[in-house]
Amino acid sequence: MIATPIGNRDDITLRAINVLREVDRILAEDTRHSRRLLDHLGIQRPMLALHEHNEDEASQRIIDLLLQGESLALISDAGTPLISDPGFPLVRQCREHGIAVIPIPGASAVIAALSVSGLPTDRFRFEGFLPRKQQARLTYLQTLRRETATVVFYESSHRIEESLKDIAEVMGAQRHVVVARELTKVHETVLAGAVDDVYARVCDDENQRKGEFVVVMAGMPADDGDSPGDADALLSVLLEELPVKQAAGLAARITGLKKNALYQRALALSKG
Ligand code: SAM
Repeated sequence: MIATPIGNRDDITLRAINVLREVDRILAEDTRHSRRLLDHLGIQRPMLALHEHNEDEASQRIIDLLLQGESLALISDAGTPLISDPGFPLVRQCREHGIAVIPIPGASAVIAALSVSGLPTDRFRFEGFLPRKQQARLTYLQTLRRETATVVFYESSHRIEESLKDIAEVMGAQRHVVVARELTKVHETVLAGAVDDVYARVCDDENQRKGEFVVVMAGMPADDGDSPGDADALLSVLLEELPVKQAAGLAARITGLKKNALYQRALALSKG
């Protein structure tokens, strides 16, 4: 499992280069994309595609190659394989077959962003990408509202604005976030502050919506318990899709608050 750069091509390790030179074959998420990096490094090895659309079928064929004695390297388009990237079914099958899987560590956007965020890193929760649809995103964010560890998301240029807006709606406008954009690249920027402030800066500047993003969000502050307003906000979202009883039941599971009290609030909100 070989990490490759997340932008700056110098962020490849000497060990990664040596191993890529030596293996029988290189498995790549997008062979054309990775060929550019390999050409830059002067490496020419046979390649095989392993991406999210073929990884279940391709993994069996790859296991056969490994059992025949081939040594294979897996790389993804950027960063560490399997981190929001293909490879999990293959690694699991390798383990089941007793095939050695060796990490060649290096860049990963989640770790790079955390290391410059200024937010606690002793405990963090990596959430990959948030749901694309707004309703699902809001409901999902509700499940993270009481998380006290730092939370990290990956985000694309298409949704960075909406996601920040939704984080402000669910977590409150004052929740601290850090938006790390284009890390290790020419247009690297790191915006930090209250989420409504960072959201405004992203809205005001078109350039701040371009490229690749990691959002690092502070965990719930110790003094930020559930207030009636928070429960109402959650219930209002759930009531858009569900009848009162189900909305109250789900809200109780998410918040840990009493179902009966939530049912009464949901009833009042639905009438209101
Ligand atoms: N495997 C990669 C890793 O180890 O970071 C992540 C792959 S995931 C498909 C791609 C996402 O990672 C992007 O949409 C973005 O959220 C994040 N990302 C990758 N490179 C980045 C960079 N240079 N700056 C900020 N975020 C980046």
